[in-house]
This record gives sequence, structure tokens and C-alpha cells, in this order.
Amino acid sequence: MAISSSISSSSADVAVPCCHCGMRSPMRTAWRCDYPGRRFYGCAAYGGPNCCTFFEWFDPEPPKRFADVIRNLLEANESLSIDNHNMMKTNFELTAALRETTKKAEELAADVDSMVASNVVLGEDLTTCVVSRRWLRSALVAVLSALIACVWLRVVNN
Ligand SMILES: [Zn+2]
Repeated sequence: MAISSSISSSSADVAVPCCHCGMRSPMRTAWRCDYPGRRFYGCAAYGGPNCCTFFEWFDPEPPKRFADVIRNLLEANESLSIDNHNMMKTNFELTAALRETTKKAEELAADVDSMVASNVVLGEDLTTCVVSRRWLRSALVAVLSALIACVWLRVVNN
């Protein structure tokens, strides 16, 4: 019988047996056995190199039905623990993906800000070009008008 156990406190009014080592035996709860949850006394040095073989059930043997119910509950609990572990893993992966997406969105936002700033500068350059072009056109019209006037005066005087 494989027994996985945990120590529980025993009530003061119960006679606590001593193990073969002569120490008061702590009460433990067996989980991986035919009757999960059944309490027992074992060696005080259980798990150590000098552990003796003392073993005594505290709880009487329960009906098999109880053992089946407890085992099913433990299996359901283990299944839920696995589900929980998988969901935590998925949550971790989603959090990492969200962090990466947020970083890319911030980079894109910075690019957009940079393009908007460049667009403003280009707009100002375009306005300057339009003004210069209008001024050049006016100057060209004035020069041509003066030239035509000179040519016309020369023709008239001849
Ligand atoms: Zn012992």
C-alpha cells in the first residue's frame, strides 16, 4: 500500500501511542491508499534514515462506498488542478502575446506621430513653394508687360 500522508494535530484527550523509537507518534492522514483521508499513527522520524516500522490506524476502516466517493473526489480535484495549471499556462502565453502586441502598437503609434510631424513640415514647404511660384509668375508678367510696351513704343515711333 503506497501512502502519501500529511501530519495533523491530535486532540489532547486521545492517548497518543509511542513508536518503536520511544517518541510520541504524530497523527497523519493517508491520501494515496485504499481509504484516502484515513488517519494513522506512524514513526515520529517518518521519512528520515532512522525511521522505525511502527504503524497504527487511528480511524476504523470505513465502508468501501466512502473510499470510492473520496477517491472520485480526489480524482476530480486532480483533474481540476490539471485544468487550472493549463489555464494558468494559457493565461501566461496570452499575457506575453498581449505584451508583444502592445509593444508593436506603441511602435506603430510612434511611427504615425513621426509621419504626422513630417506631413506638417511638407505642408509648410508646399505653402512656401506656392507663394514663391505666385511671386515669380507676377514678376514674369510684369517683365513681359514692360518688354511688350517697349517693343510697341519702338514700332509706334518708327
Ligand atoms: Zn519510530
